[in-house]
Amino acid sequence: MYADIIIDITHEKLDKVFQYSIPSELEGILEVGTEVIVPFGRGNKETGGYIIGFSEKADYDETKIKPILRCVEKSRAIESQLVALAAWIKENYGGTMIQSLKTVLPIKRKETVRKKRTVRLLLSEEEGKCKLDVYLHKNQKARARVLAGLLDQPRQDYDLITKKLNVTSSVLHALEEQKVLVIDEEDKFRNPVKYRQGRWQNVALNEEQRKAIEVFGTDYDRGVRTTYLIHGVTGSGKTEVYMEMIDHVVKIGKQAIVLIPEIALTYQTVLRFYGKFGDRVSILNSRLSAGERSDQMERVKMGEVDVMIGPRSALFTPFSDLGLIVIDEEHERTYKSEQIPRYHARETAVQRAKAEGASVVLGSATPSLEAYYRCKTGEFTLLELKNRAAGQSLPEVYIADMREELKHGNRSILSDRLREMIEDRLRKGQQVMLFLNRRGYAGFISCRSCGYVVKCPHCDVSLSAHKGGRMVCHYCGYEEQALTLCPECGSEYISGFKAGTQQIEELVKKTFPQARVLRMDMDTTRSKEGHEKILSAFADEEADILIGTQMIVKGHDFPGVTLVGVLAADLSLYSNDYQSAERTFQLLSQASGRAGRGREKGEVVIQTYSPEHYSIQKAAVQDYEGFYEEEIDYRSLMGYPPVQQLTAVWLTGNDEAHLHKAAGYLKEFVKRINRSGRITVIGPTAPYVSKVNDQYRQIIYMKCENSKSLIEAKDLMEQYIEMNTGFNSVRIQFDFNPVNMM
Ligand code: ADP
Ligand code: ZN
Ligand code: ZN
Repeated sequence: MYADIIIDITHEKLDKVFQYSIPSELEGILEVGTEVIVPFGRGNKETGGYIIGFSEKADYDETKIKPILRCVEKSRAIESQLVALAAWIKENYGGTMIQSLKTVLPIKRKETVRKKRTVRLLLSEEEGKCKLDVYLHKNQKARARVLAGLLDQPRQDYDLITKKLNVTSSVLHALEEQKVLVIDEEDKFRNPVKYRQGRWQNVALNEEQRKAIEVFGTDYDRGVRTTYLIHGVTGSGKTEVYMEMIDHVVKIGKQAIVLIPEIALTYQTVLRFYGKFGDRVSILNSRLSAGERSDQMERVKMGEVDVMIGPRSALFTPFSDLGLIVIDEEHERTYKSEQIPRYHARETAVQRAKAEGASVVLGSATPSLEAYYRCKTGEFTLLELKNRAAGQSLPEVYIADMREELKHGNRSILSDRLREMIEDRLRKGQQVMLFLNRRGYAGFISCRSCGYVVKCPHCDVSLSAHKGGRMVCHYCGYEEQALTLCPECGSEYISGFKAGTQQIEELVKKTFPQARVLRMDMDTTRSKEGHEKILSAFADEEADILIGTQMIVKGHDFPGVTLVGVLAADLSLYSNDYQSAERTFQLLSQASGRAGRGREKGEVVIQTYSPEHYSIQKAAVQDYEGFYEEEIDYRSLMGYPPVQQLTAVWLTGNDEAHLHKAAGYLKEFVKRINRSGRITVIGPTAPYVSKVNDQYRQIIYMKCENSKSLIEAKDLMEQYIEMNTGFNSVRIQFDFNPVNMM
């Protein structure tokens, strides 16, 4: 047996894998992640490395392969743990070990960071002049030069002073000893949190919050490590609960990771954590440079950080004694990676916690079906917060049937009820949020008389209306002039539904000329601070109405908002994947949750063409349990996750006939290896978007009660694909429990 070993865990060198042989006394002891000592280089210098895999045959001349010398006794090095986690990710989500390692291991800064040093005069001008006379008198020229220079300018750069005045560092240190000057060193690794005065105040926890914290604390002290799901209505004070739980583990010397969707990682949130844990909190976000990220990892390794807050990738923070992983808004789709390896942060967190003896706390007002299902099966522990923290009541929700509006001759985007309620709020000086549910849709053009939708001739996706009367494909860039008549029925209502935030802004400004309007979407938040700027302007009540996409519904607290309007609730209902009802319920509940967080009670209007759908009905009465029951029945009937496991196999190629043949062969292969019949195979079929950039796509779905059989099938399929030259021109990817089926 041979072991593949990486010596240097820096990113650029990760693909340099060396093969070593395993001496008999080490057989059976080594595993992926084990830290070992090997002879390295020409001098056979004893060097540390990590095992990333095993193979049975030698990659080159067997006699030249050196043996592993020994393994590091009981190494609990964090690198060792992370390498093992990478192996688990590769096994469960596909891709290569190197891809997994690159995901899991921190990027190291290439250049070494030098400390920035400055020299500061400690004497007053008068004292300095006296001292200068003494130096000149004693003919101490170098000292005199430095002092004269500092009298001129009392604070100077260390390097500059040594060069410009041609003095050695011993002169400066001697002066430091005499208390003439002081040499300041700035931290090498700076905390990216800039404004650190937390505005956080201690709140008196309510009964529900205390109970949740107590369950966790009691378990923890008894040595129980498990996964908890906090199902807490919007505004129930989950963050306060997380912070107490984190405090519990930090107090006994352990560390915690807090995952937050990037979009909700606001200044507001960070400040609350900062207020409680001070400088021992750090953050990761996409705005940090690679160097800044690597600085944070160094701080972590030096033991300067107890709590790391960040999006998905913060899960791999190299804490050596991890006690807790919190995942806020656990239902969010951004927790699933869109790049290979397509890991899910929730599942991966549970795995990391298990391996390192930590607990996991998930939190959401609208838990994923997956997490709630696992509470029902007893795998996770459910903690509930049924009331808003400060005793505010949940908002009143009205459903506006847009088909009725059309019948009454109202062709506007706004229903009569919503328009009247906006007028009312403007009169009262209260704030309004208008939320456009367009996830996955970009202002498609349809005929309101017959339902025809204009699609791209190359991509089979709908074209989007742009300003200046053009229609554009967002996949391939194809453009054409906007149609004026429906090609199917000749109706002139072809521009139909104007779903863009921009058009809504125009309409709102025209309808309510007295209102101050802000818009938040991809266009207005492109600049670095655009996002924060708009939100803080709205929070400071510089505007009456905020219009936006799902961006505006995440984790912000606007006490002045008493009305939320949801325009076109159905848009997310018509994407053809099995999670569309769940997605719709979540978006509607989260959007409604923005209303009435202050003293005044909130109201919500949901506009829809399908008012009878259970995802809309249950969201309107904020009945998660009721929604869950209906939805889990459907999943179970259809054999969808979380009841069964699902793997999507994507095949892409530019020769349509060949692609179909390849997909057919692959399906036959699965049927052959599936003798027990445990796996259900669906397809191959064209996915919803069947062609992108003239590349055809086919998809095969495999369903099974246990994920193990699916992983085995994937391994066998990978071998089959590699051996068969027929698959050379076809790209094949696996996606486990895909969250995005388009
Ligand atoms: P969630 O994340 O559950 O939606 P948050 O944690 O953001 O809720 O809390 C909502 C608001 O309630 C925040 O402004 C928070 O400071 C406040 N809050 C939390 N707990 C309490 C409490 N026990 N008493 C009063 N206010 C509280
Ligand atoms: Zn038509
Ligand atoms: Zn296209």
